[in-house]
Amino acid sequence: MASSPAANERRPLPVYKLMEPLATVLLKPGEADRVVAGHPWIYQGTILRLTQPALDGEVVQVKDHRQRFLGIGFFNSKSKIHVRMLATERVPVDEAFFEHAIRSAIAVRHKHLPNATTFRVVNAEGDVLSGLVVDKYADVLVLQTSSLGMDQRKTMIVAALQRILSPRAILERNDIASRKFEGLPNANGVLTGQCDPQLAVQLNQLQFEADLLGGQKTGLYLDQQVNYQRVGRLLARSQGAQVLDCFSFVGGFALHAAQAGAAHVHALDQSAEAVAAGVRNAAANGLAAKCSFEAANVFDWLKAQTIAKPNEKVIPRFDAVILDPPSFTRNRSAVPDALRGYKEIHLRALKLLKTGGTLVTFCCSHHVDAATFQDVILAAAFDARRLLRRVAVYTQSPDHPVIPAIPETEYLKGFAFEAVR
Ligand code: SAH
Repeated sequence: MASSPAANERRPLPVYKLMEPLATVLLKPGEADRVVAGHPWIYQGTILRLTQPALDGEVVQVKDHRQRFLGIGFFNSKSKIHVRMLATERVPVDEAFFEHAIRSAIAVRHKHLPNATTFRVVNAEGDVLSGLVVDKYADVLVLQTSSLGMDQRKTMIVAALQRILSPRAILERNDIASRKFEGLPNANGVLTGQCDPQLAVQLNQLQFEADLLGGQKTGLYLDQQVNYQRVGRLLARSQGAQVLDCFSFVGGFALHAAQAGAAHVHALDQSAEAVAAGVRNAAANGLAAKCSFEAANVFDWLKAQTIAKPNEKVIPRFDAVILDPPSFTRNRSAVPDALRGYKEIHLRALKLLKTGGTLVTFCCSHHVDAATFQDVILAAAFDARRLLRRVAVYTQSPDHPVIPAIPETEYLKGFAFEAVR
């Protein structure tokens, strides 16, 4: 039966008719499961064909080889990752989409980091927003867009962030290496609002300077925020400790250890700027008398402290040693060299650690898993003839969510050991 024109007008149009037609990416047989499991990266080699040409940065729909719909994502032929999945439904990727996704990410932070004022708001794949990182430093936001699709939608993302968080300013920190794989140039600066790129923020109960446009990462290593607190609590059980913080950056662990009751913390970092900021941070928190910072290469420093002359013995003098080196691996082929590096610093650190003392150690390389990392530490302990008791296991702070179906989201692992002998 034909319906009247009036009835037709009242009937809402189906959603798909309101949307632009999308180019379709068909996957090769056997390649869909990874995507169905939630992994957002579709490599060029897994694609059977495109049903029509797609522009780089455009939203495409992805289907398996039997034409079953899997979801939508950003296309970029210039990247080895041809499609970055965004959703399992055919939704418009507009400001409302970003607002919803960012609000979901913030809910995770409110649940798991309820008292934090400085944290990572969005962590790319960990928040189902591949290519987008947003950090919140008190009332200033720092944005990183590492995919073309995200970069092209910066204005929308900024508008959504303004509506949700009303920040004083939004900066972009787009000087990351991964952008060149997407054909994107470097770009650093203020996107909206006004702010001095150097500001003081609170992590746990301590104040830190963050250099949002010049510092490492987007200013601070926010992924260690929970570990600062946990390590502080652990070291609080050894009042009056002599602590060595290796790869200290601006003193995250050093200051937490000093606040927890260490007698003295000596911090080492090769970056003179980081060391200078560490000194200022210690002073700002009233901890200057308990902290010293030294610009040094940790490998050289530890070597100089642990090379014994004939008939001399290295005297262990630290109650706690913290090791938080940078990732020594850019890719899998660098792993053997990295493991040698990890072993060396652990061996030397153990020589300086008193019996009963605590070794706190981290590895932020995705390519080295926790079991491999622990094996390296045990190999160093063997060479140093030390027996270790494991007293804590650490991972990245919950504002860097781990999604096991996306192994790349898990990278930071750490342990605390006590030297039994
Ligand atoms: N523990 C820090 C983060 C460390 S990141 C924090 O919680 O904030 C790694 C640091 O190691 C960086 O600050 C970098 O400047 C420093 N670094 C890298 N290689 C080094 C080396 N060989 N010797 C000393 N410092 C080094």
